[in-house]
Amino acid sequence: MKFCSLRSGSSGNAIYINHKDVHILVDAGLSGKTIENALRSIGVDPHSLSAILITHEHRDHIIGAGILSRRYNIPIYANKATWEAMKRGIKEIKDDNRRYFATGEIFEIGEVKIMPFKKPHDAAEPVGFSFKAGGKKVSIATDLGYMTRGVANNLMDSDIVLLEANHDVQMLINGSYPWPLKKRILSDVGHLSNDAAGETLLKLFKMKTIGMVFLGHLSKNNNRPELAFYTVTSMLKKEGLKFNVKIALREIESEIIEI
Ligand SMILES: [Zn+2]
Ligand SMILES: [Zn+2]
Repeated sequence: MKFCSLRSGSSGNAIYINHKDVHILVDAGLSGKTIENALRSIGVDPHSLSAILITHEHRDHIIGAGILSRRYNIPIYANKATWEAMKRGIKEIKDDNRRYFATGEIFEIGEVKIMPFKKPHDAAEPVGFSFKAGGKKVSIATDLGYMTRGVANNLMDSDIVLLEANHDVQMLINGSYPWPLKKRILSDVGHLSNDAAGETLLKLFKMKTIGMVFLGHLSKNNNRPELAFYTVTSMLKKEGLKFNVKIALREIESEIIEI
């Protein structure tokens, strides 16, 4: 399998996953042009995309999905509640390209087995995804207020995990956001902090159940890549754990990881 975070953050999310002839985009939360250029920069022709999977209807996850679907005739996959909630955001999609999955039930695209799992976030029916193919596993969990046992179970045994490290709690509290927005981000249906990401990874690395990690969906105003990296890795170092942690940035493609 191949994995590349094209963009990750509240300014837009798009993750590329590939196995053999299956090319999947998880979320399309940037302009069609930006996503096309990002794909081309890693050598992927947008025409070859097999599917766009949607985690939830927030703008930073869907804004380019309709455009790409119409331009390249790509099916979009989402659960029923998300389809309903993103109707206006992605505009007209032809029937054939409207695909449904049920949260908690595995579905397949080619040889890739996909598990959409529930996560706590303030959207209609938000999900994360695990992908299994060729004996490997990749999991994506961003946009969640706290780490549930269900999400953690789905992250286990992944060769690659993209996990949210949205904000530094002190930066958020002391920052310029209005209080209701701060409260939303800190709530159980908001976003995962650097500390919370660190605690999750501490458990997962301790159990030796994950390979490498990308920290993603970093806030522009309430985090910094070095700070997210430092916070998480110092927690892991303290326990003497071996780890492989990278950052998925908001403006640029990550390296392409092949497993
Ligand atoms: Zn988001
Ligand atoms: Zn969201």
